[in-house]
Amino acid sequence: MKALVFHGAKDIRYEDVETPSPKNGEVLVKVEAVSICGSDLAGYKGGNTMRVAPLIMGHEFAGVVAGLGEGVTTAKLGDKVGVYTNLFCGYCPACKAGLTNVCENRRIIGTTMPGGAYDGAMAEYLVAPVGKLLPLSGKRSFSEYALAEPLSTGLRAVRLAGDVKGKTVAVIGCGPIGLLTIMVLKHAGAKIIAAMDVVDKRLTMAMQCGATHTINSKDDVPAFTRQLTDGAGMDIVFDCVGAQATINLGADIVRLGGKVIWVGLAQPKIEFEFKHAAVKELTFQSVYLYITEMEEGLDLIESGDIDVKQIITSEYPMSEGPRIFAELASGNSDEIKVILKNE
Ligand SMILES: [Zn+2]
Ligand SMILES: [Zn+2]
Repeated sequence: MKALVFHGAKDIRYEDVETPSPKNGEVLVKVEAVSICGSDLAGYKGGNTMRVAPLIMGHEFAGVVAGLGEGVTTAKLGDKVGVYTNLFCGYCPACKAGLTNVCENRRIIGTTMPGGAYDGAMAEYLVAPVGKLLPLSGKRSFSEYALAEPLSTGLRAVRLAGDVKGKTVAVIGCGPIGLLTIMVLKHAGAKIIAAMDVVDKRLTMAMQCGATHTINSKDDVPAFTRQLTDGAGMDIVFDCVGAQATINLGADIVRLGGKVIWVGLAQPKIEFEFKHAAVKELTFQSVYLYITEMEEGLDLIESGDIDVKQIITSEYPMSEGPRIFAELASGNSDEIKVILKNE
């Protein structure tokens, strides 16, 4: 089969590899659509320890069952499926506590984790355990279904924030996760959704996705949020970037006793105005992946309650992957979500 194989920093090749064969309890999935994630792009640039070459990336995808391993009875050829990508162990302390998203031994399809590497969906086919399949009606496009995975992170972020109905919230960073979080916040009934980004085009998209107000982060954001909230500050801030500037901004614009939700992970080590934040009696909540939110995400996509296709800016054949990755990595791209498809 053909696959996009990651060979090292700035080196992805569209080449022939052996088609994987499903073992006991596994199915072969023909990939219909796979989305490029920011984490894949970071891997391509050589800056993500969870993408170690050689690897076939791709964890945001949907496809069709094209082969059955031994003992598979709950799936049949031709089934349209999403795949729950976290292959957690089920026995470590995190799994036992119900936090399978942070399983110590997890493997994640299309990534290299401490539990091992697992080839992903930037290929014609991949194998997946049958128990990880999520059935799709076919009512929506495979490209939309592929976005259930990043949508799940938005859903988990909003869930961990508690009740957002009637609240004033800010979303810092309007990349895919920020925009999907905005959609979830709108659906959940937040009163004010203030979106922030340094790129004006992304702010325009944020308004389409449900933001009520936007401001370029280069402007005076604290003055803007004070004005929006009669001087109080935002009830909840979602940081969908996770860099020094945004982590500090979040603690600055949130109200006394408010909540800051850390969704993005851009910068591993930062300098933080600790005292300024501590005296406001804030709650900080981090978010990592999702647990049951992927099923919920697919339901919201199926029902049309959340229209993820708004953020799909391009679809290309898989064979163009090497060029697309290079373009996205150049930093001169306006793309939000790019989908790759097999011809
Ligand atoms: Zn992702
Ligand atoms: Zn585990």
